[in-house]
Amino acid sequence: MSDTRTALVTGASRGIGAAIALGLAKRGYDVALNDIERQKDDLDAVAAQIREMGQRAEVLFADVSDKAQVEAMVQQALEAFGQIDAVVNNAGILIAGTVDGLPETTWDAVMDVNAKGSFMVIQALLPAMKARGYGRIVNIASIGGKHGAPEQAHYSASKAAVMGFSRVLAQEVGPLGITVNCVCPGIIMTDMGRVNLEDPQVSNAWKAKTAMARIGDPEDVVGPVAFFASDDSAFVTGQTLNVDGGIVFS
Ligand code: NAP
Repeated sequence: MSDTRTALVTGASRGIGAAIALGLAKRGYDVALNDIERQKDDLDAVAAQIREMGQRAEVLFADVSDKAQVEAMVQQALEAFGQIDAVVNNAGILIAGTVDGLPETTWDAVMDVNAKGSFMVIQALLPAMKARGYGRIVNIASIGGKHGAPEQAHYSASKAAVMGFSRVLAQEVGPLGITVNCVCPGIIMTDMGRVNLEDPQVSNAWKAKTAMARIGDPEDVVGPVAFFASDDSAFVTGQTLNVDGGIVFS
């Protein structure tokens, strides 16, 4: 194993994904950055910041809900870096809507990106991790998958699916030296987070719900992800960690 650690981060052009990619680079990782091609400018900007830190960055476009694109992306990441030590499945979408009027297409879109996307990235990467007998899989779920809020039933279902999938996968691949854990952000100030925060009354209500009386920043999510991506968590698997300033206590 080479000294430099390598990571693949999906949805890395902005928000939590960009913060994770930059945070891992700061901790000495070379980073393969994924997003959809429409995010090229933002993704290139994150890559440039990582290269300025002296780490390697590879920009890989793929829609994580498209199996062929995912397989090509993982192949490119492995060819570029030789190995991927850690994968962070961060790409996700939130489309609000109550259950009674929810179009089937919206249910499918959210499940395809949030749940199936993580599954397909992991499935494409597993043979390489198994061959090495090493891997760190970190899935970005959400406290929404444990608690949830009105108009987010399908989002909640997709994140609960990620957590259930992760617990079983942890048991399947544990003997092979691969860990699988979930980070559950709370209310984080990103473009997605603004869905919950645009109305000051709603924003203040969320603040009041946190033990720490504040909304999270993308950087708040980085440390816990870096822990699960590293050997500091070598004997931790199948876990979900709330990173929410104290909203959900289970
Ligand atoms: P964000 O600001 O909307 O960023 C998400 C990124 O993922 C965007 O660049 C997006 O690209 C990309 N993406 C979306 N669909 C993709 C696909 N099919 N393939 C590849 N990339 C795709 O969201 P965020 O707030 O940083 O959220 C990151 C993760 O944290 C998500 O999984 C989210 O569910 C989770 N989370 C967020 C919060 C919060 O409060 N922000 C709370 C709990 C959990 P496009 O913009 O082009 O679609």
